[in-house]
Amino acid sequence: MIGLISATSAGQRGCEHLAAAWPDEVRVYDGPVREAVGRAFAECEQLVCFLATGAVVRLIAPLLRGKDTDPGVVTVDETHQHAIALLGGHGGGANELAQRVADALGCRPVISTATDAAGVPGLDMLGWPVDGAVAAVSRAILDGDPVHLDTPHGVHPLPALPPNVTAATDSDVSLIVTDRVAAADTAARTVLLRPPSLVVGVGGSRGVPADEVLTLIGSALADAGLSPRSVAALATVDAKADEAGIVEAAERLGVPLLTYTADRLAGIDVPNPSDAPLAAVGTPSVAEAAALAAAPGGELLVPKRKSAPQEGPAMATAAVARRRPRGRLSVVGLGPGARDLLTPRAREELRRASVIVGLDQYVDQIRDLLRPGTRILESGLGAEEERARTAVEQARAGHAVALIGSGDAGVYAMASPALAEAADDIDVVGVPGVTAALAAAAILGAPLGHDHVSISLSDLHTPWDVIERRVRAAAESDLIVTFYNPRSRGRDWQLPKALSLLAEHREPGTPVGVVHAASRPDERSEVTTIAALDVTTVDMVTVVTVGNTATRNVAGRMVTPRGYRWQA
Ligand code: SAH
Repeated sequence: MIGLISATSAGQRGCEHLAAAWPDEVRVYDGPVREAVGRAFAECEQLVCFLATGAVVRLIAPLLRGKDTDPGVVTVDETHQHAIALLGGHGGGANELAQRVADALGCRPVISTATDAAGVPGLDMLGWPVDGAVAAVSRAILDGDPVHLDTPHGVHPLPALPPNVTAATDSDVSLIVTDRVAAADTAARTVLLRPPSLVVGVGGSRGVPADEVLTLIGSALADAGLSPRSVAALATVDAKADEAGIVEAAERLGVPLLTYTADRLAGIDVPNPSDAPLAAVGTPSVAEAAALAAAPGGELLVPKRKSAPQEGPAMATAAVARRRPRGRLSVVGLGPGARDLLTPRAREELRRASVIVGLDQYVDQIRDLLRPGTRILESGLGAEEERARTAVEQARAGHAVALIGSGDAGVYAMASPALAEAADDIDVVGVPGVTAALAAAAILGAPLGHDHVSISLSDLHTPWDVIERRVRAAAESDLIVTFYNPRSRGRDWQLPKALSLLAEHREPGTPVGVVHAASRPDERSEVTTIAALDVTTVDMVTVVTVGNTATRNVAGRMVTPRGYRWQA
């Protein structure tokens, strides 16, 4: 809940505006401000105070408890010019809230937390636990000093790191991605970033206490020099899915409990099988086999060990495996060319990638956005299969790979050959991009207001008779058609042929839009007709959009009516 507090009528208008904009999220606190702030501070996760910053500082000072529990507080000045993140910038979400308030009221967000103001993520915002010299390394990152990135156990697709943190730099300030408690040469200016890389397999006899399980896990990790903060999951056999001590141990560690059938575990090769679990649950190994089952392709770091209960036989077993780094393949559409048509999400993925795969001309489009040290595997036209295979291989090796393409990377582009190669051992994310047909449509007017198709006229991958069949079908069904790959030096008869097929069902005066290099410096566009189109103006950086029988030229723009009944 976001508490809103105001004292003046301008402030009240601000409150009303936010209450209308975010109806389910806010509560307005009326009455004397001291009391209103007090109540809101106790009841809400966030506060927006339409009050002077100084006044709010005095009001909340006696209420402050700590970074982890205090709400995020934003103040807005009387003339609604500034939304100031006053307290709890990160943890309390005040920086983000200031931005939201600024968007809603049309004012400027004022952010003073160092990392956000500099536009780089704070180490505490990466999503993985950090140990070590957080303050010193944060300072270096902010100052833009080189920070050495070390990934001793493979590359685990990393969170997006600031640009000055790279493997390429040599520096005494370093960020090490490791599940080891202390890295070999832990210098004073080192931060250890904990990847979710460890899985602990556990077994236990009925009634095993959670404390015993946790003590065993703790000593197994400590003896091997491994950090509990890198434990991603506990794993066991199905028969122990409800074993209270094991369930509670997972809960207390804050990790999921993964379970596997006895059959599955019995099929896994382990160093220390034994008869006891075979008799009890039907597999010769629980701890080691479950750890390995949850870390496919990974390695066993700590073989099975047993708890040492005060009395009686051992009641718990544990083994630790390290997951093979799971690679990430993002298939990123760069848009038609203009920088502001590249989505923020695409930008983020590019910065996150440690490897970029793509055509050299597309790499040129975004080279300046990459982190220094990003490996670039560019290639010329053709070689698509090879590019796709390279991208998938790199991801399988644990890298964060961005496979890039212009427009949308799934439209006549690399997404399909890449995903045809990819198995379920890598994570795949797609980032949509503005495809040429849409970039062109926005320039032409509103040509795609009714049903439409895209057809590629390239007969490199598709036999011409298939293309022709589709053009005929589009002609007969009166679809608006956008032609990709319409004409090149060696392929010049296809476009006139396709137009003549459409002309069998459309008037010669049907509007046709030609857009060359949409959104790029040499953009050129024309609205003409099927009869008047000069195909020599069309090349491979052009799309051609042919209207349907209802499309009109209105004031030089292509307009296709939506044609619903309400318009008739
Ligand atoms: N994935 C791309 C399309 C690749 S096929 C996309 O989604 O846009 C290549 C064809 O796309 C080119 O021959 C041309 O027809 C079209 N194209 C790509 N970018 C273009 C642009 N900026 N302006 C006009 N056409 C473009």
